Amino acid sequence: MNYKQALNHKIFKIISKSAKELNLESFVIGGFVRDFILKRGTAKDIDIVAIGSGIALAKQVAKNLPNKPKVQVFKTYGTAMLRYDDIEIEFVGARKESYNEDSRNPVVENGTLQDDQNRRDFTINALALDLSEDNFGNLLDPFQGVPDLDAKIIKTPLNPDITYSDDPLRMMRAIRFATQLHFNIEKESLDAISRNNKRIKIITKERIVVELNKILSAKKPSIGFLLLEQTGLLQYILPELTALKGIDEVEGQKHKDNFYHTLEVVDNIAPNTDNLWLRWAALLHDIGKAPTKRFSKKVGWTFHSHEFEGSKMVYHLFKRLKMPLNDKMKFVQKMVFMSSRPIVLAQAVTDSAVRRLVFDAGDYVDDLMTLCEADITTKNPNKFKKYHNNFKIVREKIIEVEERDSVRNFQPPISGEEIMKTFNLKPSKEIGIIKETIKEAILEGVIPNEFDAAFQLMLKEGKRLGLEISEQ
Ligand code: ATP
Repeated sequence: MNYKQALNHKIFKIISKSAKELNLESFVIGGFVRDFILKRGTAKDIDIVAIGSGIALAKQVAKNLPNKPKVQVFKTYGTAMLRYDDIEIEFVGARKESYNEDSRNPVVENGTLQDDQNRRDFTINALALDLSEDNFGNLLDPFQGVPDLDAKIIKTPLNPDITYSDDPLRMMRAIRFATQLHFNIEKESLDAISRNNKRIKIITKERIVVELNKILSAKKPSIGFLLLEQTGLLQYILPELTALKGIDEVEGQKHKDNFYHTLEVVDNIAPNTDNLWLRWAALLHDIGKAPTKRFSKKVGWTFHSHEFEGSKMVYHLFKRLKMPLNDKMKFVQKMVFMSSRPIVLAQAVTDSAVRRLVFDAGDYVDDLMTLCEADITTKNPNKFKKYHNNFKIVREKIIEVEERDSVRNFQPPISGEEIMKTFNLKPSKEIGIIKETIKEAILEGVIPNEFDAAFQLMLKEGKRLGLEISEQ
């Protein structure tokens, strides 16, 4: 492979020249080189390592660039960053690291390129391309990263037990890369992750969530969740999911394994949405099933109100993982809460049930349908076809009902003020009753969603409540 091609962008010549001016060696390292070899498209992040001061090199590069970009310096880390075109370039001096037991932040000293490659997490992330004039584009691959890329293997440059114990975030990264790249984690490494899984506790929740989000955003997220489970990491991160594992059998009656079912749902939804939060909803849609599981002789296994329970659990899970407690969380809660509605509805698709679904789900009705379609994991081809067909009918009905009744963002055709004026009322519970009656009549299809019909119903309901129509 001609690695010079990776360095076609003019920025590399400028970095090379700047390094020469400072009498330093410099290299492109890590993800950029890996992704070039994998032909994953041109990366927007470039990591440069200098044998010397990375900050000085960044400043020199900025000086040599026509637009003189601002250099952001992170003194504590000894790194600097600048943007050129839409590329983010990070500079760091080559370093040697050593770790303490209770922190993933190493003690750092200056080092050689080899020292710096030693501290990298995986052989495929330790590849470096020389930027010096004489050796421009030469590959430095001390750990056989290229053969590992060819063999699709993730392994650590040094002893995996030490690598993972030093910085346990690397366990998440290994699994994330395995998921994104469809690679295998070498057995030695996988065993080391299992042995060190408890160490994940020293990693901040925010870092863990970044990796979880990347796993969830991959083409086949189940790869990552299976590995997390297999290595014992999942029980520390998402115990709500491991609680779904297993099949119980009482008196010959079984329920499905809701953990594996959940992973199928997440894989099913992946090709249909890039919305990370809808993918979270798929991952969490059944978490309420563990605490609500019951067995009764009459009906077998039940999970009554698991959607309600699950939506409450979403809040606690988000809070524990320090995820945003904002409208994204509310969206996930809503999806979990409503996740069984279209399934019930598909048994008998009536106009009024569809209208209620659209009313309750609002703008999220399409996402809800996408979730429910992904939830069909039956292995019986006839049932599979039938369920999908039923949902197709529901989708068509949604459009039909929408066109006619516009209940998606329901605005009552009669306002509270109109009611007060008509009956000369002060704010009182009667207004609420009348409004509710009108809303119910619209959703049931008794009256259309129009002013005149609603006005007539208001008069009728007012009369029933013994209200008098105002003179004016
Ligand atoms: P992506 O951009 O897909 O996350 P990347 O490999 O570029 O992939 P970064 O997090 O930007 O990921 O890291 C850049 C490089 O820094 C990596 O390729 C790796 O060499 C090194 N690196 C990052 N995190 C660690 C870590 N926790 N331990 C050791 N090396 C790391």
